[in-house]
Amino acid sequence: QSIREFIGETIRTIPDFPKEGIQFKDITTLLQDKRALELTSYMLAQPYRHKNIDYVVGLESRGFLFGTNLAQDLNAGFVPVRKPGKLPAKTLSESYELEYGEDHMEIHEDALFEGAKVIIHDDLIATGGTASAASKLVQRLGGEVIGYSFIIELSFLNGREHLIPNTPVESILIE
Ligand code: IMP
Repeated sequence: QSIREFIGETIRTIPDFPKEGIQFKDITTLLQDKRALELTSYMLAQPYRHKNIDYVVGLESRGFLFGTNLAQDLNAGFVPVRKPGKLPAKTLSESYELEYGEDHMEIHEDALFEGAKVIIHDDLIATGGTASAASKLVQRLGGEVIGYSFIIELSFLNGREHLIPNTPVESILIE
């Protein structure tokens, strides 16, 4: 059994959550398992070691769970991207489309320096809307997106196509 298979078996799928027709990938069962927790951290860091990453940008809220740890493993800092109204200092805001309507993500204006090398991390990429909005926030602050990091990629939703072209997307599990 490969490491990826082992990690995959610790994630459970909850049908019809948060609404009917959605197969929700629940990583709480992965987090509970100490071997899966350690191996997931290891697998997330592996592609970006020795790449002189300055910041891991983690997306609210499940991107915070591994985000700070990933930052430490890469000898980088951690920057949160959050839903509107959560960050206390001055922010930049970027909207993205949902199935019905739109939503926003925010970053602190002083979160990173110009030319900073950044990894964008979340637990899961679906349509790519959230990660794409985060990419724009990083770019507006003058940061350079070196790559993306996900535990799970729902490839049938083609989320990759909404990300910055020719930028590595590292997903532990591709469904
Ligand atoms: P996207 O913007 O459509 O790519 O959706 C990605 C965001 O929605 C991420 O922040 C995920 O945490 C969350 N998300 C969407 N579907 C799932 C799921 O099945 N499990 C866990 N999180 C999900």
